[in-house]
Amino acid sequence: MKKLVVASNNKGKLKEIREILKDKYEVVSMGEMGYYDDIVEDGETFYENALIKAKTISEFFGCDALADDSGLCVDALNGAPGVYSARYAGGHGDDKANRDLLLKNLEGEENRKAKFVSSIVLVKADGSVAQGVGETYGKIGFKEEGTNGFGYDCIFISDDLGVSFGLATDEQKNGVSHRYRGLIDLLKNL
Ligand code: IMP
Repeated sequence: MKKLVVASNNKGKLKEIREILKDKYEVVSMGEMGYYDDIVEDGETFYENALIKAKTISEFFGCDALADDSGLCVDALNGAPGVYSARYAGGHGDDKANRDLLLKNLEGEENRKAKFVSSIVLVKADGSVAQGVGETYGKIGFKEEGTNGFGYDCIFISDDLGVSFGLATDEQKNGVSHRYRGLIDLLKNL
């Protein structure tokens, strides 16, 4: 099976990408390839950040590399936290602090509509680029529900599933998630 290096060490993301692509690729993380440096994500869009990550890893190893840049966009906050989802509360990847800040910023707000967005970029060893994009819709709950998934999952109530991603099984989330939809879109564009 063809090997695909994913430009991420986020365990939650990797688990999902591995599961979704399991019939097509052997998914390997950049850490498993021996790459642990932080990649500076200073793009202004999900696409720019995904391209930065995939290009860095593809050029470093001379191989095909895939990256997902994703985040949560909340209507009442004009699309925030958006590209800053991983570091909304300051420290990179402090999921609990990010969720607490989001719930605080939505106190008293009735419009809880939100979406997850995923930009997927594949940079091939020859430098060519393919991309896909996926979205999934829902609303922000008033408290954490469930312990499955990662990031904002336990406060995001999926329109498709009628429960939070934190209460959904891996299979349920992977059938409707932004990442799944982005990966399907990418495969169509290959
Ligand atoms: P990235 O690694 O810069 O793409 O950061 C993505 C951030 O968005 C993660 O750290 C999470 O906070 C959030 N996020 C992206 N996808 C999901 C998801 O499927 N569930 C929950 N949070 C997510």
